[in-house]
Amino acid sequence: MGNNVICRVCKQNINKTLEKEGVDWIMPKTNCYYHVKCYNKLKKLNHAEDYDLNDPIWFEGLKEYLITGPQIEIDYQKLTSQWNHFREAGRTAKGLFLTALYVYEVRKLKPTKAAGGIGILNYVYEESAEYWMKRIKMEKNILSDIQQQLVSKSEQRTIVIQQIINNDRPKQEFDWSDIDAMEDEDEEC
Ligand SMILES: [Zn+2]
Repeated sequence: MGNNVICRVCKQNINKTLEKEGVDWIMPKTNCYYHVKCYNKLKKLNHAEDYDLNDPIWFEGLKEYLITGPQIEIDYQKLTSQWNHFREAGRTAKGLFLTALYVYEVRKLKPTKAAGGIGILNYVYEESAEYWMKRIKMEKNILSDIQQQLVSKSEQRTIVIQQIINNDRPKQEFDWSDIDAMEDEDEEC
């Protein structure tokens, strides 16, 4: 506390005294701090696509994926409120869906800690975006393939998505207690 605050994007320290407000860091809302470059990156990411039209596809796809993939027992009220909250904060529908795939197929996080919700998506959203950007460079069609599967009525679609994703090696073990700690300090922003 005091002079040190945490950037909401990269989770690194910002020293409010040593670093310049408006140049190095900003506080767009009370107690919400960002590095300027992290904030700009985030805004660029959030405005990169026309999400409204496809929102229901991604939202329905997310719920179906969580049930059939990591087999999460969804708390629908909680999940819907988290989804709306993240969307209002500028997260895209497609981005949130892809982050769920990243969390459970690439990072292989344990679904038991999800507690019926999608709180985790908010914390690995940027990391997931970096992953997908790299992935798209290697496989141009991967996102349209995934989207097509969601749109199609095939009952096999989630399984196919998992096959696509599982070509990738899992990254280092991720510690859920980190997420819990972040959840405690991150409030409405
Ligand atoms: Zn930052």
